[in-house]
Amino acid sequence: MAPQLDGYFKQVDTSAGKFIERLRQAVAIPSISAEPQRRPDVVRMSKFLEEQLKSIGATVQAHPLGPQPGHPELELPPVLVARYGNDKNKRTVLVYGHYDVQPAEKSDGWNSEPFELTIDEKDRMFGRGSTDDKGPVLGWINAIQAHQEANIDFPVNLMMCFEGMEEYGSEGLEDFIHKEAKQGGVLHGADVVCISDNYWLGTEKPCLTYGLRGCNYYGVTISGPGQDLHSGVFGGSAQEPMTDLVRVLGSLVDTHGQIQIPGVMDMVAPVTDEEKDLYPGIAYSMDNLFESLGSKTSIHEDKDRTLMARWRFPSLSVHGIEGAFAGAGAKTVIPAKVTGKFSIRTVPNIESDKLDQIVFKHVKDIFAKLGSKNTLDVQLIHAGPWWVASPKHWNFEAAGKAVERVFGIKPDFTREGGSIPITITFEQATGKNVLLLPMGSSTDAAHSINEKLDRRNYIEGIKLLGAYLHYVAEEKMD
Ligand SMILES: [Zn+2]
Repeated sequence: MAPQLDGYFKQVDTSAGKFIERLRQAVAIPSISAEPQRRPDVVRMSKFLEEQLKSIGATVQAHPLGPQPGHPELELPPVLVARYGNDKNKRTVLVYGHYDVQPAEKSDGWNSEPFELTIDEKDRMFGRGSTDDKGPVLGWINAIQAHQEANIDFPVNLMMCFEGMEEYGSEGLEDFIHKEAKQGGVLHGADVVCISDNYWLGTEKPCLTYGLRGCNYYGVTISGPGQDLHSGVFGGSAQEPMTDLVRVLGSLVDTHGQIQIPGVMDMVAPVTDEEKDLYPGIAYSMDNLFESLGSKTSIHEDKDRTLMARWRFPSLSVHGIEGAFAGAGAKTVIPAKVTGKFSIRTVPNIESDKLDQIVFKHVKDIFAKLGSKNTLDVQLIHAGPWWVASPKHWNFEAAGKAVERVFGIKPDFTREGGSIPITITFEQATGKNVLLLPMGSSTDAAHSINEKLDRRNYIEGIKLLGAYLHYVAEEKMD
């Protein structure tokens, strides 16, 4: 199977220095999407990518998205849509990545300049965007180039969609994808979709990701007095919003993570035997959890239950209280109006609207039982849906074979506890299977200080992306 891969792998090793140089150039551009004054750098990054894509013979279009919502003076950076190959006899793979990055300043605590790729003695390549998501984006370009240099036929038509606003909520992208995935659109005609923008569960074993939790975020506001009061004067004579709010928040979830809102767990899909079989082999231990927690305060005692709790069961977290006294010292204020914030991470088959109704009813019932004269208001602040794909789809089979070929090991099939909203947009807009194929490892510190990508993950990752395309080309469609 896929015998041409040996020559391709050899070429990737030969060109490794060049590919690292390309990453160095990309990291040097501080394409921070969240900071308006950096917008020219985000645009400069799109130009850099455009040049790189053209240099390997891809056709590129930069699609403007118009002004940024809420900032009429600020143009959104373009979505780059590139194509390599247009052979009717080959399958077409649509890949997504983003060329913007999170903010970074050396003074945040970085050990090196965040926008200078710095390689240490362990071959860790530090720099903002190295793993999230410039390494993977360049990975596709490098894969094409290595095929050319080794004179190996590229196995598929590659359609690439690279955006510049991912770290700021992918402004404008959802509509673009829905429009362009239709007949006649520039993203039409993909057989499968692949996104490389997440991470291995650990550091040694690659994984394929087939599910993400969604998130419904709520605010519950309780108000009473016309202004903040002094407890020495009004304590004992006024009903206090904070007292009511603490009781309402206290009714949502217990110490062992059990959601106390009636009806939520009834919507959760049962664990199937097939699903259960995916867990025991997964490279993860309770010690891994304790290390990332920085404590041993886990809810569950075993690995499988812990991973299921993170990936395939809902969870409810209480985040904070707006309007409450939160500083040091002993202020004797009675806050007049407080808003508690909590969210539920959602999973199949929780319906978002139904969940909202259940949550609202519960909160109102609990408040009514208090017999308070205060006023309660509960609202959904934002909602993003969960996503789950079939890990048995041929797209995943192809990726699994590629992992085995490159790393000599079968991948873990994982989900993520968080969300990547664009995943579900691609699935809905194209109607095709979406695979999450990570390049970086769990220790890469994306979004944090000292973000890095290991040389091994980058170079073997380029091999993996290329190998995946070969197996996609020959995998039996089901
Ligand atoms: Zn990312």
